[in-house]
Amino acid sequence: MAMFPEHFIQQVAQTTDIVEMVSQYVPLKKRGKEFVGLCPFHDDKRPSMYVSPVKQIFKCFACGAGGGVYQFIMLYEKLSFPEAVGMLAERSNIPLPRIVTGSGRQEGSLGRNDLFQVNTFAAEFYHSQLGSPEGKSALEYALGRGLTTESIDRFGLGYAPDSWDSLIRAAGRKGFSEAKLLAAGLAAPREQTSGSYDRFRNRLIFPIIDPQGRVVGFGGRALAEQERAKYLNSPESVLFTKSKQVYGLNWSREGIVSSEIAVIVEGYLDVLIPLQLGINNVVATLGTALTNEHVRLLSRYARQVVLIFDSDTAGQAATDRALELFLAQELHVRVAALPTGKDPCDYCLAEGVEELRRLIDTAPDALEYVWTQREQEWRAAGANLADRHRLVEKFMKLLVSSTGFGAIDEVRRAQLAQHVGHLLNVPAVDLQQQMQRLSRRITRTSQVPSGDDHPQFLQNRQMLAERHILEVLLNRPDLFDHAAEQLDSKDFIHEQYRKVAECLWSAGANGRINLEDLLATEEMADLGAVLADLVQKGERRGNYEPTLNGAVEHILYQRDQESLKQLRTAGHDDDTLHQLHNRLKTSDMRKYPKTR
Ligand SMILES: [Zn+2]
Repeated sequence: MAMFPEHFIQQVAQTTDIVEMVSQYVPLKKRGKEFVGLCPFHDDKRPSMYVSPVKQIFKCFACGAGGGVYQFIMLYEKLSFPEAVGMLAERSNIPLPRIVTGSGRQEGSLGRNDLFQVNTFAAEFYHSQLGSPEGKSALEYALGRGLTTESIDRFGLGYAPDSWDSLIRAAGRKGFSEAKLLAAGLAAPREQTSGSYDRFRNRLIFPIIDPQGRVVGFGGRALAEQERAKYLNSPESVLFTKSKQVYGLNWSREGIVSSEIAVIVEGYLDVLIPLQLGINNVVATLGTALTNEHVRLLSRYARQVVLIFDSDTAGQAATDRALELFLAQELHVRVAALPTGKDPCDYCLAEGVEELRRLIDTAPDALEYVWTQREQEWRAAGANLADRHRLVEKFMKLLVSSTGFGAIDEVRRAQLAQHVGHLLNVPAVDLQQQMQRLSRRITRTSQVPSGDDHPQFLQNRQMLAERHILEVLLNRPDLFDHAAEQLDSKDFIHEQYRKVAECLWSAGANGRINLEDLLATEEMADLGAVLADLVQKGERRGNYEPTLNGAVEHILYQRDQESLKQLRTAGHDDDTLHQLHNRLKTSDMRKYPKTR
């Protein structure tokens, strides 16, 4: 996604003062060495947003929004990172450099622009085929599923003919080489002979379009019943990454921004039929579960997501994932379940769009959803009231051992206890005690070596240690060398923290860690809130050197444990194993990190 050179991005950030810039959107008042104002990213009643002229960051203590100048603009103006850079550059009268992509690249290699061009051509080709006699059955299928001809045009649906090379031949006539079609994933190389063939054949085609209106890939629905893969997507390319993109955002972006809710479904038609009927804030994941990157993308536009599951297929994994997202509280997560065997598309055609809207509006949050499910199972099993205690205990265990729980602070924990107490009809005080007891017990049992593969609570403690290291290094860059002597960014396991560590380690290797520059890198564009939070919490915690040393020791201890396990399973019995064993026995790091 490189659009501008790094030094340019940093130069633009340096010429922009965050206090001055934020003041243009929100009145700010000086308080101590910081400025405060009403946060524009949630319904703020008292000033919750802090802007630091020294650190050049902003942070809202209520909703968690935060970052540097670019993140503020991205959130406020709903822009992508390159768009935000462009806007601030213009504001500071800094002339834009020549865009890096599409020019100055090596002869023969393909840039993003080439792929956009060939994708646009293919989308037009497929669409024209849908109107041809050959495309009749595809058109009938689309109409049969409930789409109108207007929608078919609006959403750019198409037909890939039942032939091995009709796209390749048509593209060739327009001067597009097979190499381009291969790079865009529209053609695939033949296995036995040379040459290539059309990837999509005899399929109804859904072009996948990014929010800037460019075709990044395609999805194809098989029209022949015996076809093995009912749905086929473009393979990953420089333009198309399943874990980062969603289908329909180009049409739903405005609706999501104005309602602050993104409804997430699984299929192409589950986006298009509601859109056609006037629900304009729906997107679909492209054949994957919801990833953290999806969540970050959507949190740019929405404050809530509603996941729609078919109650048939909403397996344990999907609901646990929803709960995990809810606890991580990047977005408020609600869950709507459809009757067994129904998908959103059929449901709103059969029951009416108002019925789907009602389901979305009344969807309970993920916590409530999971609890209700468990309670129903419990009732169905015909259990008695005494068993209810066990059910509550099990549910609390699920919460305490869920990923993300370790990162929850005291305030949120109390809120959670209130919420759960209300749900379970148990006093919140009791629950809080129970939560504490459970998390203590989990910590204690974690000290007994077990055969489990990375149990949740160990991951949580690892996460906390990683967090502490980053908190310290962002506040005290002079301690970087000390940390880097013992650790590498590869020692960070947690996805977000690893990304931050990678940026820190590469900046540190160049001898300059600077928060402002870090915030002004493309890799950090969506992690502004994480960075601002790390800086803030770290500053409040203080106690830099002991915190850093403790956390480093913990991670080293975990690493040793891991190698010990591997050596043991490999059947080694030599000096290394012995030394490692002794070191671990004397180490006092098992108790780390202490909760605060
Ligand atoms: Zn806020």
